[in-house]
Amino acid sequence: MTAARTVTFPSGATVPALGQGTWHMGDRHARRAGELAALRRGLDLGMSLIDTAEMYGGGAAEELVGEAIRGRRDEVFLVSKVLPSNADALGTVDACHASLRRLGTDRIDLYLLHWRGGVPLAETVEALEGLVSDGSVGAWGVSNLDVDDLDELPAGALPETDQILYNLTRRGPEYDLLPWCRARAVPAMAYSPLEQGRLLGHPALDSVAEAHGATPLQVALAWVLRHDDVIAIPKAATVAHVEDNHAALDLVLTPDDLKALDDAFPAPVRKEPLEML
Ligand code: NAP
Repeated sequence: MTAARTVTFPSGATVPALGQGTWHMGDRHARRAGELAALRRGLDLGMSLIDTAEMYGGGAAEELVGEAIRGRRDEVFLVSKVLPSNADALGTVDACHASLRRLGTDRIDLYLLHWRGGVPLAETVEALEGLVSDGSVGAWGVSNLDVDDLDELPAGALPETDQILYNLTRRGPEYDLLPWCRARAVPAMAYSPLEQGRLLGHPALDSVAEAHGATPLQVALAWVLRHDDVIAIPKAATVAHVEDNHAALDLVLTPDDLKALDDAFPAPVRKEPLEML
């Protein structure tokens, strides 16, 4: 029986620690049925946070999500993102309304600035707060913002999350970004928690996995989920992958496992600029 692990945002909204990503989904007709089945299986298993973005497939991922959640909107915590090139006062609102249309809903639960572009952060935040006020969006957050960017947010403007690249091979955020978030009770959202599959074939992961009768990617996911204030959003396009990822919630890494993984994937000892994919 898999434990239900949850994380709570500053607004008080509570979401499962394990959600579902959608980058590169929805843009290939031949894969559509499998992707819909995968997302719906994830919902059945309680992985009800779905992350998407206007960027993914030029809107195709949002359309796929809209279809996957049709008739089940109330089960889902929907996250989408505005492109930086759209993130000015009017563009943010237009982008949000276009996303709502593609998603087939009247509310995005959490709307993020995808990364920092040329628009002043204060202008984007004001637009996002307007969307919260009019009910189009439940709350706003950011993605790919490093500590110096977060420190530039307008006074009193606290993002609901920072969605960042974080996995065994991308531990830089542990040095200062995760502590920044933790000090403000802002959960981080780890994207590419499986390093897009590139973690496969690593001996240290293989031996920890073998000891648990698990797969290396389940170990990688359990490692991200060892924090109680980090959400992980692996993307899985098949039911089998979704089920494997869900089972990682039951995998408890021992101190010896964590030591072996620390030796193979060292924690940062100085500031490392936030990486992005
Ligand atoms: P990821 O989740 O680290 O890895 C996805 C890859 O792992 C896919 O090739 C998938 O294959 C494979 N996979 C998933 N589960 C597996 C399993 N149990 N066994 C074997 N292979 C498995 O990479 P990601 O898609 O880059 O990141 C996840 C999500 O984060 C994205 O989809 C997106 O929603 C978000 N993201 C956000 C940003 C940002 O800038 N904010 C950037 C990148 C990603 P299949 O597809 O065949 O299942």
